[in-house]
Amino acid sequence: MTIRRDLADAIGHTPLIRLAGPSEETGCDILGKAEFLNPGQSVKDRAALFIIRDAVARGELKPGGTIVEGTAGNTGIGLALVGASMGFRTVIVIPETQSQEKKDMIRLCGAELVQVPAVPYSNPNNYVRYSERLAAKLAETEPNGAIWANQFDNTANRQAHVEGTGPEIWKETGGTVHGFTCAVGTGGTLAGVAEVLQPKGVKVALSDPYGSGLYKLYTGEEPPSGDSITEGIGQGRITANLDGFTPDAAYKISDEEALPIVFDLLEKEGLCLGGSSGINIAGAMRMAREMGPGHTIVTILCDYGNRYQSKLFNPAFLADKGLPVPGWLDGESRALP
Ligand code: PMP
Repeated sequence: MTIRRDLADAIGHTPLIRLAGPSEETGCDILGKAEFLNPGQSVKDRAALFIIRDAVARGELKPGGTIVEGTAGNTGIGLALVGASMGFRTVIVIPETQSQEKKDMIRLCGAELVQVPAVPYSNPNNYVRYSERLAAKLAETEPNGAIWANQFDNTANRQAHVEGTGPEIWKETGGTVHGFTCAVGTGGTLAGVAEVLQPKGVKVALSDPYGSGLYKLYTGEEPPSGDSITEGIGQGRITANLDGFTPDAAYKISDEEALPIVFDLLEKEGLCLGGSSGINIAGAMRMAREMGPGHTIVTILCDYGNRYQSKLFNPAFLADKGLPVPGWLDGESRALP
């Protein structure tokens, strides 16, 4: 292990961890790329770094400049941390429905936080559209200028996975990987990894939460209606990051299927993960069952679970949503000796 030069240098090269329960259940090796070990505790540190570097290289982001972005939270944390390490100010626009923990973390990282109602893209106050307008305004008024990170349609995001995540997975598995799957927020991770692994014959699948439109866009099939408490994933359009990508398969995954996996991994394997990781692992298990025993399937462990203590790990919240509450979370405690 060498000394990392700075924060940027500490992003990526995350370990690939074998998930014992899911592997034993399917007879395959289900491996999770531990993106929660990035400095900002999520996969989005990679995109944040590449977006900032690209904007600097193109001369758009100048010393002391401001980075503006609309985000479900993780990209905001990544941009704020990488931004701080390079002397940039960040302004983050977030839908008010996202977890309090992510909002607190963004503020803690020194970013300015603007909360907007959780409204669809068609509404001008949607977090993405609001952030674009705010960036244009700040570009006029800020002394050192401002840029809009535009993670959905800025392919510097996907490039982070073309140059980082994809090659890392290939190298770490010694080229033995048979399948890869994850969910889509911007599509940077899925399409970027696919760009590297599909040409090597690896099967790449979309894992799509309920309420997301991508499964239908790719398969033409109408999925069951429903929603998801997971954050940061789900998409209704082909973003620029997804442009040119075609999945080999697509799985529609319910919270009822995904969340017990998250609870089991915390209880039995010490892995504290967010909800999107559960969707991803459930997808990897579907792929494993389709392929049959003996295969190696890789997925993404997107972020750390403490980010969702008030929701995913809150019995009252789960019960209110009609979701299963694991016994150990529901106040079951050991009797005193
Ligand atoms: N999981 C979480 C928790 C996220 O915040 C995100 C990004 N919004 C994703 C998964 C999806 O990653 P991508 O944007 O690369 O599709």
